[in-house]
Amino acid sequence: MMSAQSTIVPTASSISDALKAVRSDISIAARAVGRTSADVTLIAVSKTHGSDAVQAALAAGQRHFGENRVQEAEAKFPALKTSNLDLVLHLIGPLQTNKVKDAVAMFDVIHTLDRLKLAEKLSDEMSKQSRRLPCFIQVNTGRESQKAGVDPADVANFITLCRDQLKIPVMGLMCIPPVTDQPSPHFAFLRELARRHGLKGLSMGMSGDASLAVRLGATHVRVGSAIFGQRPNISETISQS
Ligand SMILES: *Cc1c(COP(=O)(O)O)cnc(C)c1O
Repeated sequence: MMSAQSTIVPTASSISDALKAVRSDISIAARAVGRTSADVTLIAVSKTHGSDAVQAALAAGQRHFGENRVQEAEAKFPALKTSNLDLVLHLIGPLQTNKVKDAVAMFDVIHTLDRLKLAEKLSDEMSKQSRRLPCFIQVNTGRESQKAGVDPADVANFITLCRDQLKIPVMGLMCIPPVTDQPSPHFAFLRELARRHGLKGLSMGMSGDASLAVRLGATHVRVGSAIFGQRPNISETISQS
């Protein structure tokens, strides 16, 4: 076991090998339940890693990337997007309303729509910039007080409000199960919620449980450390505020 302090600097070949392994796992999991890897978008979560790591993943054919902080993404991605026009950037961390303008300008998909104030601000800013970004509504499936996400009991109303009143393109639902729980009941619950509301997208599954999530219907998996190696600061592994 490596210690929490050790920083493994990913090399281009380790990233390329890891991507192959992750893609293969996704494909096996998808086929096991009658789906194909084309049904699943692999988002490479590059937070804390430099643009050289992203370049290596791009060279290995990866196109979808995830970041959890607007500022960090702004330091890394504008240049990469200019030289890779098909790069798709996903925001997977909490979004403060004062960062919405920048987020709408830079990201292509938002996975963390989690409250009314944010929905209103996003809707406003999307109109201003004429950029309708597909969004996932984050659901607090574990009802954890410290974690972001809409309470399951409020999801129905929140979806209606976002879709019908605020005209936000709601693509699906997203969750981060409590670290202490088995993830499968959370994934199954999220899938059922999405089905009930006619939503096709399911953003669920990380390095430790991506295959499981794919077997339970994930359309988007967010995989960081399994591709880029351990992040230096373990406490930043999951953004929960
Ligand atoms: C960091 C992060 C991930 C990726 O986590 P890994 O365990 O490194 O795969 C996925 N989703 C969210 C919301 C994250 O913040």
